[in-house]
Amino acid sequence: MKKILAIILVLLLAFSLTACRDNSGWTDDGQINITKSAVEDIINGEFEPPKNIIFIIGDGMGVNDIEATEIYSEKKFDFGLVINQIKNQGLATTYSADNKVTDSAASGTALSTGVKTNNGFIGKDPQGNDLKTMAELARECGKKVGIITNEDINGATPSAFTVHSDSRDNRKEIINKFIAFKPDVLMGVDYNSVFVALNDEERQMFENDYVVAKKFEDFETAAATDPEAKKPFIGFIEKYSSVASYNLAQSAKFAFDRLKNDNGFFVMIESAGTDKAGHNKDMNGKIASVVTLDRAVAAALLFMKENPDTLLIITSDHETGGVLKPTGNEKYLNDLCTTSSHTATDVKVFAVGKGSEYFKDKTVDNTDIAKFLINAIKGN
Ligand SMILES: [Zn+2]
Repeated sequence: MKKILAIILVLLLAFSLTACRDNSGWTDDGQINITKSAVEDIINGEFEPPKNIIFIIGDGMGVNDIEATEIYSEKKFDFGLVINQIKNQGLATTYSADNKVTDSAASGTALSTGVKTNNGFIGKDPQGNDLKTMAELARECGKKVGIITNEDINGATPSAFTVHSDSRDNRKEIINKFIAFKPDVLMGVDYNSVFVALNDEERQMFENDYVVAKKFEDFETAAATDPEAKKPFIGFIEKYSSVASYNLAQSAKFAFDRLKNDNGFFVMIESAGTDKAGHNKDMNGKIASVVTLDRAVAAALLFMKENPDTLLIITSDHETGGVLKPTGNEKYLNDLCTTSSHTATDVKVFAVGKGSEYFKDKTVDNTDIAKFLINAIKGN
């Protein structure tokens, strides 16, 4: 009898040890539990030709924003930033067609279409011709499309991935084009400002055709009205300024689950705060925004663990704030910011998935990132 008990105990112990080995994933309260070795396992895993493309953009996120966050943030994971574990890392140049220093419209267009354009242009070349945006291409290739930002939907970055306009300032025109395009999943801030800007036709589409969730807490109940995800979903999330929230990562997870289908998907996820904080010379704001982005990266890696036919690229459209390299002995963190404008400094590129070693230890142009993704979307 004692022998049998001992055998059962040993078996139980062995079972609990294997069960404990990888407990990475989402906790019940919507946070991410992940260890350094779990991250490494995912990153070093075997990847398949990508069906799903996840493109995460830190607006205005410079190389030194990431360094400062690694040194100073208490909210990062206990081993540090997930993004810094990624082995395929390089740099990208960001200049626009008409300026050494780009704005988010021109760099967004470069990252979306592979073509340089003038500052201010959305999805158009310098002559004003429409370029095929990454959302249009993905749809053409039979993929579902997601566009997510923690700022205005019609901000320059999400707009350049989806629609066309002569100017990023045509905010009303852009939001109407967005609603008419009907991304399968669209997320941004501020329900009211979107709704009041709509023309009659688009307002009708919004009310009749879309599944609408006015706040993050309503996402699940709204989605349950269309369980097969046949309709476009529009959800409104918390603004980036809510410091280091999990909102963007949770929204990303929701989007991956809703977008998943046999033909795959393309999703662009923008963490906008690093730009706004740079304009305000606010290093704590920058650090909180890098953490927000890093959690979205963790969410993407957890999705890739189950879906190795996924490609993940993370970059920035440009640097904002002229942030100096931190030493770790800063007395006043904001002194690291040397300007309240964008700069021409190269930004980081991180890549996970099949073929992503292309970016390792190399400086590419931002249009090369787009070309790489365009090939992946086309299945080349
Ligand atoms: Zn900016």
